[in-house]
Amino acid sequence: EDVAIESVISEAVDRNKLLAEEKGISITVGGKLDVAIHGDGDLLMTALRNLIDNAIRYSPPNTTVGVGLRQRDGYAQISVTDQGPGISAEEQERVFERFYRVDGARSRQTGGTGLGLSIVKHVLANHGGEVSLWSQPGQGSTFTLRLPIVDEEGAEPSELATDTTNDKASATSVA
Ligand code: ATP
Ligand code: MG
Repeated sequence: EDVAIESVISEAVDRNKLLAEEKGISITVGGKLDVAIHGDGDLLMTALRNLIDNAIRYSPPNTTVGVGLRQRDGYAQISVTDQGPGISAEEQERVFERFYRVDGARSRQTGGTGLGLSIVKHVLANHGGEVSLWSQPGQGSTFTLRLPIVDEEGAEPSELATDTTNDKASATSVA
């Protein structure tokens, strides 16, 4: 299946609008990504929603979440930047582990399970892409997704998991 990634992104943003508004957070989308990705639109949607959900959830009220789109070297690049607390160097790898949550007490108030980023990582791996994280405590976080563009030189056909469901519980079975 060829996925128009830009429409997946705008739908992911739309579906997080309410959560953002409740905190007075505005989501801005910048750049263009008029390309197709070979893969599963529901899984890519789940990955994006997890990143945007985190950006909103862990940021203080009245801040901004930025979604940046660009095309580079045969890859679609999608970044999600927030003005939240940031993630220390020691925790940056661990946050992609299943059930890992930074600072138990604070995270418990936000009521997640610690699965979101492990799902993101597996969805990207299954699409021949990757997720990376830039962050410094006190300076916010930027998560960047890289996905090979269809029909561009250097783009690899992705090996898709056969499970195409999009709810969290079953998506984790690819992990
Ligand atoms: P779930 O996504 O399953 O509802 P979760 O948000 O706790 O639960 P992950 O999305 O995997 O799980 O994130 C793991 C942990 O990484 C979070 O608990 C939080 O401590 C930290 N984290 C994730 N995103 C951010 C962010 N944008 N800013 C600061 N900390 C973050
Ligand atoms: Mg999460």
